[in-house]
Order: sequence, then C-alpha cells, then structure tokens
Amino acid sequence: MKCTKCQNNIECLLSISTEDEKLPIETSYQWWECSACGAKYYAILEDDNVNLFDDRLLHKGYEVEEKTWQKTLAWARQCPDESNTSCKCNVHNDMPPAGFYGASAWYTYD
Ligand SMILES: [Zn+2]
Ligand SMILES: [Zn+2]
Repeated sequence: MKCTKCQNNIECLLSISTEDEKLPIETSYQWWECSACGAKYYAILEDDNVNLFDDRLLHKGYEVEEKTWQKTLAWARQCPDESNTSCKCNVHNDMPPAGFYGASAWYTYD
C-alpha cells in the first residue's frame, strides 16, 4: 500500500485475524503506518471464501488520528495470538475497536 499523503510505501504493524461464526468470511483488522511522514492508517481486509473461484480480497483503509491509532494499537497488542481466528482474548472479542473509522484512504481489491 502507498501513503495517500506522501506516496511512500506504508507498513502494516499489526493484523488481527477474525472469522465470522456464521459466514465463511475471514476479516483482518490492521494498523498501518507511513515511516516517511508519520501518517497512521487503519485497514480492514476481508477474505470472502464464499466463492471459491473468486479469491479477491477486499481491502479498505481509513485515516486515523494519531492518538486513537496509538491507543488502539497498544490495546490490540495484548492479544497473544493475533493470527489465530479462534483466539478468545478480549481483543478478539471486541474487534473492531470503537472510534476507528476516519476518512476513507483506499478501497481496493487485492
Ligand atoms: Zn506518508
Ligand atoms: Zn486474540
């Protein structure tokens, strides 16, 4: 992904994977950062397994205020097993955290 402010590549610092109990959809909640200009992003990656012949991933990014981003990232780091969709920790139970969604930064099919 590219930073929408300075066009540098941005990095994903944390990704929490969850799975819906009823739907065959895996959703990852991600914290992204631009090391060049310091912009913070929050993203949701949806892996829809309904259609086996269409393995597109919907990736939605949002601009997040620094304070909110830092606070929620610190909270989410408490999860002991971020890529485990059946993890039962507080973080997984409360995903996505409140107050997250800022202006849309990107909306792509990877
Ligand atoms: Zn940037
Ligand atoms: Zn967890």
